Amino acid sequence: MKYDHLKQQDPAVWEIIEREEKRQNEELELIASENYVSPAVLEAMATVLTNKYSEGYAGHRYYGGNAVIDEIELLAIERAKKLFDAEHVNVQPLSGSPANASVYMAFLNPGDKVLGLKLDHGGHLSHGHKVNFSGRLYNFVQYGVNLETGIIDMDEVREIALRERPKMIVAGFSAYSREIDWQKFKDIADEIGAYTFADIAHIAGLIAAKQIKNPVPIFDVVSTTTHKTLRGPRGAIIMCKEKYAKQINSAVFPGMQGGPHDHITAAKAVAFGEALKPEFIEYSKQIIKNAQAMAQEFINLGYRIISGGTDNHLMVLDLTSKGTVGKEAEKALEKIGISISRSTIPNDPNPPMNPSGIRVGTPAVTTRGMKEAEMKLIVGYINEALENKTDEGKLDSLKKQVKALCNKFPIPTK
Ligand SMILES: *Cc1c(COP(=O)(O)O)cnc(C)c1O
Repeated sequence: MKYDHLKQQDPAVWEIIEREEKRQNEELELIASENYVSPAVLEAMATVLTNKYSEGYAGHRYYGGNAVIDEIELLAIERAKKLFDAEHVNVQPLSGSPANASVYMAFLNPGDKVLGLKLDHGGHLSHGHKVNFSGRLYNFVQYGVNLETGIIDMDEVREIALRERPKMIVAGFSAYSREIDWQKFKDIADEIGAYTFADIAHIAGLIAAKQIKNPVPIFDVVSTTTHKTLRGPRGAIIMCKEKYAKQINSAVFPGMQGGPHDHITAAKAVAFGEALKPEFIEYSKQIIKNAQAMAQEFINLGYRIISGGTDNHLMVLDLTSKGTVGKEAEKALEKIGISISRSTIPNDPNPPMNPSGIRVGTPAVTTRGMKEAEMKLIVGYINEALENKTDEGKLDSLKKQVKALCNKFPIPTK
């Protein structure tokens, strides 16, 4: 990208950004929650829309001069509705965690009981972890995956739900590679009169492209980030049934947030426009094909994948059998120019700062145009790095191979 004013006026900041751009170009991004936005999305974010205050909603703002801003917000809403078959959409949430805070605020009082997936079984901090606002404000009880199969045990979910009678059930994850049975969750919630909340932050793009089942028509409320598989700017949206529209809107503003970030709203609209195109379906299909090819190659090389494979864009690898742990693996892979995130495995014997596994995903490498053959190569590099993690010469030569692969598949600039 060209940043002429920035370069001239503030070379210190410009130079750091240049180096990060180079790093992104020359390294492989396997962090499952990351992606590369299109130049059009980037351009929308760098616009004068950032100058505006527009607390409130279209037609009902607390500041003047919002007629144009109203149009961009309504366009983003209209596209999101079409993309997810939603009755009501709020496009103002600043990011995934504040979106979830707004959802809880809309439906719950502090101290209310909520059922969510355990963090070390693939859940998210904002689904009731004790260090997070969610776990401090609300009384979370948690379900997990079956330790043998690695799959969410719906009988256990039902048993806990009937016993604990939570006011809300949360479905969704940050590190789980199987499809979720949304209807089953809804049936269980209906038995006890609980609200259903799906957090599709990770899989929203795959759902928009109809490669994974959509909870929006089934659940009361659904939140998602816009920057993961959906490939938009950092941010989030909340979707709900029309009957909850008012309480969701009031929870976002004035409940949780002040003014929306209108430049980001514009970029969300651009990303939704991209996701509505047929190319996005092809992209999403390839994400899943790539993840499945990657999983198969890991299995061929003797790795244990939690749940034995993947239906989506990610997988969690247990490194125990490879004689290493998450932090050490992260370091070795960083040395060869591959970014992954360390991850807990279900009932991890190791602490969260240095868990037994890593999580890898394919959204970013798929955006670069890589396919199954490249996934095999990448798994090979990872395996060699983990098996030779103290051999600096070997790691150096792997780094060169990673860079050569990246140069063959540049981050799209069109
Ligand atoms: C990423 C994620 C979030 C949080 O999003 P931020 O934008 O990082 O706050 C919330 N829920 C789930 C399931 C996520 O994966």
